Amino acid sequence: MKAPDIRYECPLSLVDALDLITSDSHFSQPLAGGQSLMPMMHLRMAQPELLIDLNRIPELDFIAQQDHQIHIGAMVRYAALLDSALIRKHLPLLSLAIPHIAHAAVRNRGTIGGSVALADPAAEMPAVLKALEATIVVVSQDGQREIAADDFFIGLYETALGENELVHSVKIPMASAEQRFGFYELTRRHGDYALAGVAVSAQSVDPYTGLRIVFFGVGDHAMRAGAAESALEGCGSQDNAALQRAQQTLAALDICADASTSVETKLQWARVVLKRALHSL
Ligand code: FAD
Repeated sequence: MKAPDIRYECPLSLVDALDLITSDSHFSQPLAGGQSLMPMMHLRMAQPELLIDLNRIPELDFIAQQDHQIHIGAMVRYAALLDSALIRKHLPLLSLAIPHIAHAAVRNRGTIGGSVALADPAAEMPAVLKALEATIVVVSQDGQREIAADDFFIGLYETALGENELVHSVKIPMASAEQRFGFYELTRRHGDYALAGVAVSAQSVDPYTGLRIVFFGVGDHAMRAGAAESALEGCGSQDNAALQRAQQTLAALDICADASTSVETKLQWARVVLKRALHSL
């Protein structure tokens, strides 16, 4: 199917983009990499009257180190994140996770801001950002506000982004030398959306301290597994009883069935990906 007729604007600055979003009476949507929005428009699942293209706004395209954080603009593409020496050195969990997102062609266009704004429940990036205690910076004509990733992803394709706000950037604390990271996802074929996946960060291993375990693809949004974190805290990586206790706690997570998979199967997948991600820490 072809996209419907729409008005298209391509602002060259953030101020102009915010001006368009606020002043235009048409229902508008920002266009980032277009890897989700364009297919949704073709299928009439998204029907903006005005498309505001963010691709020529230099203020949204940067990777910078600031104090102990890496600051990433919303329009930075997955491919640029994979190429970045700063990301490889200071945010190894991103380098582990991004190769699992789709294929090279999609990663060449898709952006971190697009993934954050879309909040697909099976997407890798929301879970990774929660595991890393990231902050989402959003901007409107009223200024900027910062929202913890833990509070940003609310539900199925639902975020804390307000009306007339854009995702501006994400701020992620730099990894310390002691920190360890794990990532695992189950897919039918490499590059498919995950059937079940998990991103894990730990302040240390053997014993585990400061674990953050965040699942994706099993619920309506990226879900932190606090009870599993508690069950493992202070235990060694070879402690199978602790692992089993952590796996048992996952039954209390808000796991959702989908058209082809029951809650029980998703729960079993969650237990499997947790074990594999912990082994990879
Ligand atoms: P767009 O498609 O341009 O926009 C997505 C949504 O976010 C739209 O509603 C748009 O209005 C809004 N938006 C974009 N930028 C902003 C902003 N700065 N502020 C506010 N709102 C904004 N994703 C995965 O995570 N994992 C996968 O395995 C995966 N597989 C894929 C396979 C295929 C074949 C395809 C086509 C896509 C796949 N994707 C996958 C989706 C891909 O990662 C998208 O790039 C991503 O979901 C959205 O990023 P985008 O830059 O393309 O955003």
